[in-house]
Amino acid sequence: MECDLAIVGGGLAGGLLAHAFAVLRPEVRLMLIESGPQAGGNHLWSFFDGDVADSDRWLVDPFITHRWPQGHDVRFPGFERTLDCGYQSIESGRFHATLAALLGPRLLTGASAAVIAPDQVTLADGRVIRAGAVIDARGAVDLSALRCGWQKFVGHSLHLDAPHGVDRPVIMDATVDQVDGYRFVYLLPRDDRTIFIEDTYYSDTPDLDVPAIAARIAAYAAARGWDGTIVHREQGVLPVVHGGAFDRFWPADDPIARAGVRAGLFQPMTGYSLPDAVRFALWLAGRPLDDLPAATRAHARTCWRHGGYYRLLGRMLFGAARPPLRWRIFARFYRLPAPLIQRFYSGRSTIVDRIRILCGRPPVPIRSAMRALLDPSFR
Ligand SMILES: Cc1cc2nc3c(=O)[nH]c(=O)nc-3n(C[C@H](O)[C@H](O)[C@H](O)COP(=O)(O)OP(=O)(O)OC[C@H]3O[C@@H](n4cnc5c(N)ncnc54)[C@H](O)[C@@H]3O)c2cc1C
Repeated sequence: MECDLAIVGGGLAGGLLAHAFAVLRPEVRLMLIESGPQAGGNHLWSFFDGDVADSDRWLVDPFITHRWPQGHDVRFPGFERTLDCGYQSIESGRFHATLAALLGPRLLTGASAAVIAPDQVTLADGRVIRAGAVIDARGAVDLSALRCGWQKFVGHSLHLDAPHGVDRPVIMDATVDQVDGYRFVYLLPRDDRTIFIEDTYYSDTPDLDVPAIAARIAAYAAARGWDGTIVHREQGVLPVVHGGAFDRFWPADDPIARAGVRAGLFQPMTGYSLPDAVRFALWLAGRPLDDLPAATRAHARTCWRHGGYYRLLGRMLFGAARPPLRWRIFARFYRLPAPLIQRFYSGRSTIVDRIRILCGRPPVPIRSAMRALLDPSFR
């Protein structure tokens, strides 16, 4: 088997990259190599309208399964707000079907890469794919070079016996008991009787007590009179990176190009990677395929530098705010102008945004904030 570009890992980043090349560079013979039975695994990815530039929307639009153009809500003790920015979700079933139709036999599923070299991929079954260029988009990577807090969650989709009455996503319902750091519930109404309920924690530890969180989801549903059957479950533990050394995370002599979270391309405060994956795919499709290891590393290094401000906010969150009071940081943030909030989520905060987020009466004690910012062990 031979190709010009072998993308290893048919998840979010690898799939978007393949889509970008199939449309913009059809002359490039690519292969998308995925170990699972379908591209995208069993996933639900969501994003705000503001996360993807209008001119780039074509890259994600064919994959979208749900849209909520009517905006979304946030709820904190004593404060609620509706933001008019639309929201949408991609389900991996549609993601796979669209890529399969687009790529045909160039999408290899059930193909686990055992050895990745700059010019070939050896599969676990012994097949060898020779390639002009190879890019590693296999997702989760060793995070030991980074300093992290954690955003962890368990989500259940419930099909209810009666309508739930929620007509737009609730991105944060932080009126719940504060447990294990900053806790909130995230709601996605799929249709009038199906609702996705995700119980989320900004926590100091990555441990996920799934039965305890499942019980809290059930209690949240019961308190609203929602009775029904669980039709889908998911869970995740995402790093909230607040420090570390990029050069140890991705050593300069690494001969393999990377994409997606493996390249550190995610918003440090949320762990979400879709906005970065879109920008990366379009950037890569617009440049020559030579020297990919150095070029992708340089791209990721620039993104790491731009992420410094978000890592500083992470230090404030994990280092300065006592866990039960972390919600105050988000409650204050959500009083800021809507366009600033959207730019924050897409990792595109302007200088003025950055100043505004930090200005004013801080929701954490000044001394703790200074300690967190100056403590070298936190960088
Ligand atoms: C439950 C959960 C929900 C999330 N929700 C969102 C969200 O709503 N919005 C958002 O922006 N971010 C979200 N994220 C964060 C992040 O965007 C996702 O984790 C995203 O899928 C990362 O994209 P990726 O392509 O880098 O990795 P992945 O999507 O994980 O893709 C990696 C792929 O590589 C394949 N693979 C692994 N090893 C091999 C191998 N040896 N050979 C071949 N293939 C291999 C895997 O099977 C997988 O399909 C979520 C994360 C989790 C865990």
